[in-house]
Amino acid sequence: MLILTCPYCGVDAEETELAPGGEAHLKRFGPGASDEEFRDYLFARENPKGVHFERWRHAHGCGKWFHAARCTMTLEVFGTYPAQTTKPPKAIREAITAKRPGWTWREFE
Ligand SMILES: [Zn+2]
Repeated sequence: MLILTCPYCGVDAEETELAPGGEAHLKRFGPGASDEEFRDYLFARENPKGVHFERWRHAHGCGKWFHAARCTMTLEVFGTYPAQTTKPPKAIREAITAKRPGWTWREFE
């Protein structure tokens, strides 16, 4: 079972208390974007076998959105952090690197 710690209220919430919100850290495009950029913003999503960053909502708790870094193969959770954060905190990126040497992801290199 997936258990995520809400970064706002500190509760270790089971998956049934949470609502998934898809991929985190999407680059948003507005009216001036090209058709390809806007298409990718709407439809293109990462689907990695491994480290992934996701949006979750503590639906049956404080109700706030947050981000989680976890492994999609093992369900190992590397950390959670507020949804207003534009990129994963350094401590979480270092925790991922410690357990997955050579790990990279598009926006952080
Ligand atoms: Zn909460």
